[in-house]
Amino acid sequence: MIGIRKIWLLVVLVLFALPASGAGPDGTSADGWGPIELLGRTIAPGGKLKFSYAQSPSFEAAYLNTVVFVSRGAKPGPTLCLTALIHGDERNGFEVARTAFDMADPKQLAGTLIALPAVNVNGFRSGTRYMPDRRDLNREFPGSLDGSNSGIIAYLLHRTATKVCDALIDLHTGSFDRANLPQIRVDLGHPRALEMARAFGAPVVLGGEGPRGSFRREMMESGVPSIIYEAGLPLRFEPEEIERGVDGVLNVMNLLGMRAGRESKPTPAAKVYSRSQWLRVPMGEGGVFYPVRKLGDRVEPGDQVARIDEPFLDERFTMTTPIAGTVIGMAVPQVVFSGYALIHIAQP
Ligand SMILES: [Zn+2]
Repeated sequence: MIGIRKIWLLVVLVLFALPASGAGPDGTSADGWGPIELLGRTIAPGGKLKFSYAQSPSFEAAYLNTVVFVSRGAKPGPTLCLTALIHGDERNGFEVARTAFDMADPKQLAGTLIALPAVNVNGFRSGTRYMPDRRDLNREFPGSLDGSNSGIIAYLLHRTATKVCDALIDLHTGSFDRANLPQIRVDLGHPRALEMARAFGAPVVLGGEGPRGSFRREMMESGVPSIIYEAGLPLRFEPEEIERGVDGVLNVMNLLGMRAGRESKPTPAAKVYSRSQWLRVPMGEGGVFYPVRKLGDRVEPGDQVARIDEPFLDERFTMTTPIAGTVIGMAVPQVVFSGYALIHIAQP
């Protein structure tokens, strides 16, 4: 059975060896702009294609049997990559990537738009955050061929993406019954990525490198300017967050010069925060949680932010914030236990 695993890896790796972009003798214009070859497919300038990533029917390769969208512009330009559902329950991003891709007319496009809108495709179907081997794919990058199934998939994705992407937008939502205020996560020390973050048009930009092993961080370390759009709740399709995300992707495409003659919708300048902190349930104070603040609220030290009712005793815990800042993420009402992250506060 090891043989089968190796065979599908080989098939995929052979496809990687194909030219990632550029040019063949056919269809290449005088300015050197020609078809893109990706994962065994050829997409001519002015064309778009949706196809399956995995080329093998084997048991393990099926975990990568997800969809790839490629729109090859009629004119030369950079390649913007969109990824969503690296966490399989964070569904808003799928709709952002799908809608933005469908809006990008390759006849008008300068450059290439590539979307992997359902990276953890099994998680998309079942509504689960993690991969079928119970790992968090967003801690597995850049991955390894000697690793777990998730590590292998991370390796293949990272290798493809670093070859073809000039810039990346990775799409997420809050995790586990938590909602995020629409926000961009970015390394504030990287001027090009920060430019993309500001151009996106979300109300909040939060600085940070991201956790080790996350796709955004590892792509940045490979030299690809990368940002994350975080908005809303997992397991939902939220029209406002999706529409804002689509606008943001188009705005970044404008910044990169991919949509000649198109103007970005005017948006207020984002508020930039350099750090953030979660307020958690104190030891022994678990119970039924209700927030008393909204996303986007400004809070000062000592302000009440939540209450937790002890369900078996006639007791109530009132939670206050020890720090000032803006509420950018928050749990929805639910049963909570000691240590659970409830309120995410961003600070300048
Ligand atoms: Zn996520």
